[in-house]
Amino acid sequence: MRDDSRRWIEADRSHCWHPFTRQSEWCRKDPLVIVRGEGVWLWDSEGNRYLDGNSSIWTNVHGHHHPTLDAAIRAQLDQVAHTSYLGFAHPRASELAERLCGLFPEGTLERVFFSDDGSTAIECAVRMALQYRLNRREPQTRFIAFENGYHGDTLGAASLGGVGRFTSTVSRFGLEVTRVAAMEDLETLSPGAIAEVAAVIIEPLIQGVNEMRPWPSGMLAELRRWCDRHGVHLILDEVMTGFGRTGTMFACQREDVIPDFLCLAKGLTGGYLPMAATLTTGRIYDAFLGGTDLAFYYGHSYTANPLGCAAALASLEIFETERTLEALQPKIARMTDLLSELSASYPEVHEVRQCGLVAGIELRRTDGSKFPAAERIGEEVCLAASKHGLLTRPILDTVVLMPPLSVSMDELEFATNAIGAAVHDCFGA
Ligand SMILES: *Cc1c(COP(=O)(O)O)cnc(C)c1O
Repeated sequence: MRDDSRRWIEADRSHCWHPFTRQSEWCRKDPLVIVRGEGVWLWDSEGNRYLDGNSSIWTNVHGHHHPTLDAAIRAQLDQVAHTSYLGFAHPRASELAERLCGLFPEGTLERVFFSDDGSTAIECAVRMALQYRLNRREPQTRFIAFENGYHGDTLGAASLGGVGRFTSTVSRFGLEVTRVAAMEDLETLSPGAIAEVAAVIIEPLIQGVNEMRPWPSGMLAELRRWCDRHGVHLILDEVMTGFGRTGTMFACQREDVIPDFLCLAKGLTGGYLPMAATLTTGRIYDAFLGGTDLAFYYGHSYTANPLGCAAALASLEIFETERTLEALQPKIARMTDLLSELSASYPEVHEVRQCGLVAGIELRRTDGSKFPAAERIGEEVCLAASKHGLLTRPILDTVVLMPPLSVSMDELEFATNAIGAAVHDCFGA
C-alpha cells in the first residue's frame, strides 16, 4: 500500500466517524480511499478503477468531472462562493427557482424553498404543512406515512420513516404519524382519524431504502385522488427518484400527479454539491402572507448556496444538451435485458426489481428462503463485485444497481457482468 493511502486510513481510523457504520468493524478493515472520478468511473488511492454502480449514494447524474458542471462551478467561484440568502437575493437562485418551476405546468408548483440535503427538504415540507394549518387555524397535526418508507435522518424526517433499523431510536421523539402499508389501509381509516391528518408523505413509484420496492402502477394517482377527497396535502419525497432516475424527470410525471409539496435533493446538483429544494403551490404560499406571525421562520446558513445553484442550473442544462432523458430509454431497456440474463444464470438471484435506471437484485438461497441476516450475503457479494471493478452497496441482501444516467451500454454490461462474477465467486457456478 502506498504511504499516502496508509496515512489517510490511519487518520480515518483515529478521527473519523462514518454514517450508518459500525465503527468497531470499520476500523478492522482498510477502506478504499476514493481520490478521483471521470464519467461513471472512480479511482482509489492505489490507482484501481471502479464503475460507480451506486451513483455515489444515489446522487450522481451526468458522471463525475463533467466539463459543463465543473465550468459552471468555477465561473460562480470567480464571482462569489457564498452569500446570505437571508436578507438578499442572488442571480443563480433566482434563475434556478424559475427553471425548476418551469418544469411543471403553470399554476401548479410555483414556489421554491432551498435547503441543504434530502432530510432538510423533508423537514421544510413538514414544517410548512404544519404551519399552513396553524396559519389557517385548522386543527390537523398528524402525518400519514408508509411502512418501510425512508425520508432522511433529522429527527422529524426520521420519525416519518418506517424502516425499523433506522427509526427505532427516534420514532418516539418525533412527529405524530399514522403508518399504513398500502392504499387499502387508507380506505379503512375512520373519518375521525382522517380529520387529524395534515399530510401524507410517500416516495413515489419506488421505495428506495426498502430494498428498491416499486409501488403498484396507478397507486400514486389513486393516492392523489384520496388526498383531494379528504383535504389532505400530499408530500412527495423525490429525493431519490428526482432528476431522471425513473425514466422521466420526476417520478410524479409518470402518473400525472402534482403534489402539494415536492422534495428534491440528491440529484439536484447533478450529484456535485449538497443542496435541496422544497417546491410548493401558490395556494400554500398564500397562507404565509399577511401578518409577521404567519411568516415561515425557517432556514439554514447555507440556504441557496450560489455554488450549489450554479451546479443545479448546469445539470438542468446538460439534461437538454445531452438529451439525457431520451438517451435513457434504450439504457433502461438494456438494463432490463441484462438483469433478466443475470437472473436466469444464477439461481441465487431471487428477484430483480427495476424502476427506470434503478434496480434492486435480491439474493436468496436456491430454495427461495432468505439467507440468515448474520451471513450478510449482500455485503459479501458487493465486496466481491469490487474485485471485478464495480462499486455498489447492498440493502440487506438486495444489491443496488443505480449507475449515473450517463452510463453507456457497454458500461451497463460491465456492471451487470461484475455482479454476475461476484455472485459466481460467492456461490460457485
Ligand atoms: C437519501 C434520501 C433522503 C435523505 O436525504 P439526505 O440528503 O441523505 O438527507 C430522503 N428521502 C429519500 C427517498 C432518500 O433516498
